[in-house]
Formats: sequence, structure tokens, C-alpha cells
Amino acid sequence: QSTLSRLKEKVRTIPDFPEKGVLYRDITPLIGDGQFFRLVMTIFLERYQRRKIDKIAAIDARGFIFAGALAHILGIGLIPIRKKGKLPFQTFESEYASEYGVNTLTIHRDAVERGEQVLILDDVLATGGTAEAAAKLVERCGGTLVELGFLIELRELKGKERLRRYPIYSILQFP
Ligand code: IMP
Repeated sequence: QSTLSRLKEKVRTIPDFPEKGVLYRDITPLIGDGQFFRLVMTIFLERYQRRKIDKIAAIDARGFIFAGALAHILGIGLIPIRKKGKLPFQTFESEYASEYGVNTLTIHRDAVERGEQVLILDDVLATGGTAEAAAKLVERCGGTLVELGFLIELRELKGKERLRRYPIYSILQFP
């Protein structure tokens, strides 16, 4: 059995969460197993260690898990992109429609220096609304996107099409 299919089996599928009709992919069994969490981080590390990356931006909240670990291994600074009302300093805001309603993401205005190469990481790419809002915030600060990286892409929701302006990478694809 391939490594990727073993990894895929560690993602638990929950029907009707958080709403009826949504098939939720739950990564907690995967990150709860040290061997599999390390495997994910090794795959991200191999992909990004030789790229020129100045900052890693993490999307609230599960993006922090992978971005934090990768920033640590690479010795690169971490930027939190957070839901509105959480960041204490001056922010830029970006509104987007998600699977579950309208949301606002924010970034500190001084998080990125002009011309810096920024990698964005999150756990799941669904419709791409969240990632698109995050990418706009990084660009608003003057950063250039290296890539948007995800553990999981939910192909049916066509996030990749919405994000076709940007390089997209995912370790696992569902279904
Ligand atoms: P999008 O904006 O529709 O692409 O939704 C992506 C955001 O919602 C990401 O920040 C994910 O963490 C979260 N998300 C959407 N669907 C799932 C899922 O099935 N499992 C875990 N997180 C999800």
C-alpha cells in the first residue's frame, strides 16, 4: 500500500458536519498520530526546502498546525492570517463567502515587507474562498505568493479553478 493511501486512510470522513449535506474531512486522527504527522511535514519540507521563501502565512486555525511546524523546521518567520477581531495591531481585511456563510480574514499591515516571497498553508482547500482572501491579504501587504499549499484538496468544490491565478499544491485529493 502506498504511503499516500495510508495517509489518506488517517483522514476521517464525517457526514453532515457542521451542516446537513456537508461531508467533513477530519484531520485529527492524522495529526494525532506522530508518525503520520511527521510524514506530512516531511512531504511539505521536501517540497519547500529548496525554494526561496521569506515568510510562511498560516490560515486560521488549522493552517497554524502545518505552517507553524514548517516555519520551525525551515527557520522562516510565521504570519498568522486570522478571523476578524483577533489581531491586536492595524490590519487589512478581506471578506469572502465560505461553504458556511460570509467571513472576514485579517492580516497585520506590517506582516510582510514589499517584495517578500510568501508561502500560504492551510489544512483543506474546499471552494477556495478562504485561500483567495488570504492570498489577497498577502498581496495587499506587498508580498508575492510562492504557492498555496494544502494537506487536502476537495476536488468537487473546484477551489483550484477559483485560484487559477496562483500555484496550488495539495498532498491528498478527495474523493
Ligand atoms: P473554502 O473557503 O471553501 O475553500 O474552505 C476552506 C476552509 O474551510 C479552510 O480553512 C478549512 O480549514 C475549512 N474547511 C472546509 N471544508 C473542510 C473539511 O471538510 N474539513 C476541514 N476543514 C474544512
